[in-house]
Amino acid sequence: MIDNFSGFKGIRAGRAFALLAALFVLIFGAMVVLIALDQQRVIDSTTRLQDQTVPEIIRHQRLSRNLEQLRQEGERVFAASTPQARQQAMFVVTLVASHPSVLEHREAAEQARLLERFLVDVLRQSSRDENAFAANLPEWQRLSARLGLLVDDISIQGTNLATKDLGDVAAAMNLARIKLYVAMVVVGLFLLIFLVLLRAHLIHPLQLIDKALSGLSVERPAPQFAASPMIEIQVVEEAIGELHASLLQNEEARQALENLANKDGLTGLTNRRHFMLLADAELQRAQRYRRPITVGMADLDFFKKLNDTYGHAAGDTVLRAVAALMQETLRQSDLVGRYGGEEFAFLFPESSLAEAAKLAERFRARCADYDIRLADGRLVRVTLSMGLADASECPLEIALKHADDALYAAKHQGRNRVVVAGGDVAADLPLDA
Ligand code: GH3
Ligand code: MG
Ligand code: MG
Repeated sequence: MIDNFSGFKGIRAGRAFALLAALFVLIFGAMVVLIALDQQRVIDSTTRLQDQTVPEIIRHQRLSRNLEQLRQEGERVFAASTPQARQQAMFVVTLVASHPSVLEHREAAEQARLLERFLVDVLRQSSRDENAFAANLPEWQRLSARLGLLVDDISIQGTNLATKDLGDVAAAMNLARIKLYVAMVVVGLFLLIFLVLLRAHLIHPLQLIDKALSGLSVERPAPQFAASPMIEIQVVEEAIGELHASLLQNEEARQALENLANKDGLTGLTNRRHFMLLADAELQRAQRYRRPITVGMADLDFFKKLNDTYGHAAGDTVLRAVAALMQETLRQSDLVGRYGGEEFAFLFPESSLAEAAKLAERFRARCADYDIRLADGRLVRVTLSMGLADASECPLEIALKHADDALYAAKHQGRNRVVVAGGDVAADLPLDA
């Protein structure tokens, strides 16, 4: 029996499984890490959006609001109907222009300072000249428009900050989504390949092994398997081959034992016990279907004398030769057995007494003419007497008893002849009858 895998070329199923599992973990782990990195990018971007960008946007909005207020208060300085209202508007302009949110933005601070100085100048001129506002209106409109453009620029910058960060988040999330799809496809493909391999190299061979085992029989050739790359499968397949070989050996041993139990050792004919079994079964079949059947008993003539003259070994040679002649002369369906010493029993299925008598007579005549060569080269002949009886209507033992009686009559009538029980069929039939 196979106790290790040393003689086998291939891969152990357990190892293949471990390799595939490791590969799966590796691929899956790599995908998880890549997706986690993208998730981290999303987290980083949203944190930045929250901690930096949103305050920055608020700063931009506040600045643009302040600048817009600066511009509107400037308008009010120009449009005011009373000196008090103008002074109030100018006060707000000074306040807003020195607001920290304006001062920390270089361009805004510069324009606010310009605007403030311009308004202070115009106010100063207006105390001397009544038309100072009208004269400076175009310059004011130019400064106001410039400030309006800056307000727009700053508010757009604020919006752009949010747009960039939100774009980063969206891109990172999109990438993560694509990687997730890729990971799912990879896992799906891997699973598919795994299942295909599992079916091709484990399940299908196991099914074939199951089929081979259930069909294992000495009547069929040893099962053949396509070379499997899996060592465990190879081991089982080899074991099935060995099992089949041992089944064959057992069958040979069984047949040898059966031969020992059923055959006569000297002549190779069926022995008496087995003859009785086979003949009984055949007789029952014939009687069930009402078919003709005949039994016979034969005994070599003066065999004792032959033994005495030529020796016991010569007697054995003669017995073997007569047995071989019987098997050669009788039909395939006829049954002959060594009944005892130099006595033989016969069964002629599908044969009436008359038909069996012709066969028996042909054999008797052939035997009488047959030269048997002894071990020392001498030739001897032997005759036999035979009795036949119809067996279609009585048990085997009774039919054989009738045949034995007929044999006794043949001996009594002078030997070397066939006698039929009941005496209707004549003995000494011609050879060509
Ligand atoms: P008959 O014509 O009346 O049958 O005369 P016979 O001499 O054949 O008479 P009998 O049946 O008494 O003798 C049978 C002899 O067959 C006796 C026995 O020694 C011999 N014999 C029986 N079995 C064997 C055997 O296996 N080998 C040999 N060589 N002889 C055997
Ligand atoms: Mg005899
Ligand atoms: Mg005898």
